[in-house]
Amino acid sequence: MRQVIIIGSGPAGYTAAIYAARANLNPLVIASSVEAGGELMNTTEVENFPGFPEGIMGPDLMAKMQEQAERFGAEVVYDDVTELSVDGRVKTVTLGSGKTHEADAVVFATGSAPRKIGIDGEQRLSGRGVSYCATCDGFFFREKVIAVVGGGDSAMEEATFLTKFASKVYVIHRRDELRASKIMQERAIKNEKIEFIWNAEVADILGDDAVSGLVLRDTVDGSTRELPLDGVFVAIGNDPRTHLVHEKLELTPEGTVWVDGRSSRTSVPGIFAAGDVIDPTYRQAVTAAGSGTVAALDVEHYLAALGEAGEPAVDAAEIDGLPEASIA
Ligand code: NAP
Repeated sequence: MRQVIIIGSGPAGYTAAIYAARANLNPLVIASSVEAGGELMNTTEVENFPGFPEGIMGPDLMAKMQEQAERFGAEVVYDDVTELSVDGRVKTVTLGSGKTHEADAVVFATGSAPRKIGIDGEQRLSGRGVSYCATCDGFFFREKVIAVVGGGDSAMEEATFLTKFASKVYVIHRRDELRASKIMQERAIKNEKIEFIWNAEVADILGDDAVSGLVLRDTVDGSTRELPLDGVFVAIGNDPRTHLVHEKLELTPEGTVWVDGRSSRTSVPGIFAAGDVIDPTYRQAVTAAGSGTVAALDVEHYLAALGEAGEPAVDAAEIDGLPEASIA
């Protein structure tokens, strides 16, 4: 039996692992079979992680975090969690391989997944011109005309990156004002290959075997028009990955895992949560890393109290100030 299992291998998961390993808790990190390293694996240059004044590529940053965790004794398993049992003192994690692991504490740091537009053609043509990852699929769009949907930092970053391959990149945004930070906006606006289409939403994605165009709906007057192109990258935000804990942990109205104030304590003693899965607002690599630190320190205190009392240190019913939360 382990003292702590960490589910997730993004900045929150690996930072929790670094701290837990340095505290001699021998953490086991379940890193996912296909998405190990989290969202930064799909990013190009990270310019705002402190300590890297020249910037660092997302995958390189994650490799360094993993190396740092392993250096202190964290063990990393590349598998997916299929079930998490949160009841009782001992928590059980079941993996895709069928193997189960037990622990006194679990840090849930599963991050978030790209949000879908939710229209017919999107699902049908996913992987055939519809993509959620510019760094993964940009190469396939050499000299093609493509679009990026969204007005946040992700959309600006993807659009700018995609101009390396595409002959033209439309940015389709539902308002006439971007949500992205000034520096990311300016970079995209200055790029001659990028054309902004304002006040427009994607009503349909056209094509039989591959994307051939979009139907755009004007969000001001409701009129529609077709835009011929070869591919579309959806960058409209992310949703917290909570499917493993539905009806097991309290969730917030935003769909993130509820935690007690600034701590990582969830509604179930012994289960801690960190990173994007608890954060509907900031969602930065560095805030996720800080949140992973909090989780590891909370786990340390919990285990110490558990050791002394021989029973869980916190009872969910004793947690004060529970906000309006939903069980999804
Ligand atoms: P975001 O900031 O939530 O932006 C999502 C964008 O998609 C918004 O412009 C939103 O429009 C639009 N949108 C949402 N749902 C939509 C829908 N159904 N149809 C059409 N448009 C829709 O998400 P993000 O860009 O992924 O960024 C998330 C966080 O990561 C942010 O905190 C961001 O700063 C950070 N990030 C940072 C960097 C960087 O610093 N290098 C890079 C990427 C992301 P509205 O504006 O109208 O709501």
